[in-house]
Amino acid sequence: MQGPILSFKQEITAVFGKPVAENPTQVMVEAAYRHHGLAWRYLTLEVDPTDLADAVRGAKALGFAGFNCTIPHKVAVIPFLDEVAESARLMGAVNCVVRREGRFVGENTDGKGFLTSLKEIVDPRGKSVIMFGAGGAARAIGVELALAGVARISVVNRGSDRGRELVTLLTERTKAKAELLPWEGRFRVPAETDVVINATSIGLYPDVDAELPIDLQSLNPRMVVADVIPNPPRTRLISVASEKGCRVIDGLGMLVNQGVIGVKYWTGVDPDPSVMRTALEDVFSPRERP
Ligand code: NDP
Repeated sequence: MQGPILSFKQEITAVFGKPVAENPTQVMVEAAYRHHGLAWRYLTLEVDPTDLADAVRGAKALGFAGFNCTIPHKVAVIPFLDEVAESARLMGAVNCVVRREGRFVGENTDGKGFLTSLKEIVDPRGKSVIMFGAGGAARAIGVELALAGVARISVVNRGSDRGRELVTLLTERTKAKAELLPWEGRFRVPAETDVVINATSIGLYPDVDAELPIDLQSLNPRMVVADVIPNPPRTRLISVASEKGCRVIDGLGMLVNQGVIGVKYWTGVDPDPSVMRTALEDVFSPRERP
């Protein structure tokens, strides 16, 4: 009689970044792997920019199913991939590499993750958006919002060059109307705005007291207010907006939802987002255990 077939081989996924030690993605992805009975691992790997080409070749040779890229590799990784998917090509940034038929394909799940969180609250079609920031996160969110049919994206950024670049990208390559608004002093959010997004790094640990320079009085309860900052999830913006009666989306929503898409791309399994969110919440604010 034949016994059970035992396999000691694990499928490997990872994140490449530098610095990377404080990146919590492993916690939520491995929680999903365990929950769904997958013999998969997700490694947090510090990769120096000078080693990125070798790291990608190594990942391929070792049979990795894919990997995430974080700062500073999201743009730099592109020349080392076999293919780049359409929205990632539009953004010029890859945060998720997927092995498909032996080829490494670059995807961008940041903006898609944000969009999933937003759609849980409001349909973005036809909406008017104010977005602070024009870096990698803002580009990903801006492109996905435009592809999802928002009417207008007003970009507010400290540096006007980066702001203009994003507005040009959105205007020339998507159907959304986009404009760059000046940011002098505290920005007053126009009353007709539907969605307000902080896509800057203001408020990220350890600078948790840093304030987004906006006039908080200009927020009104019909607005949806979102923050990309995952650590801490309850930023000052999120606290004040929810006190004012706005519907809010914290940075854990985007982080979890982009992770859900990554796990689905790699494993084919649709993971349970609540398992992933709980794992992250446990890390950021450990609950009292009996
Ligand atoms: P980038 O460095 O590419 O962009 C940073 C942005 O923040 C720029 O627009 C920059 O403006 C602005 N900014 C930074 N400091 C200030 C300041 N003091 N005042 C005004 N503007 C400022 O970073 P990313 O776009 O990759 O990341 C931004 C944030 O998004 C990070 O905190 C990251 O943790 C978070 N993120 C969250 C994700 C999630 O899943 N929740 C996913 C990806 C990112 P300027 O152009 O003038 O420099």
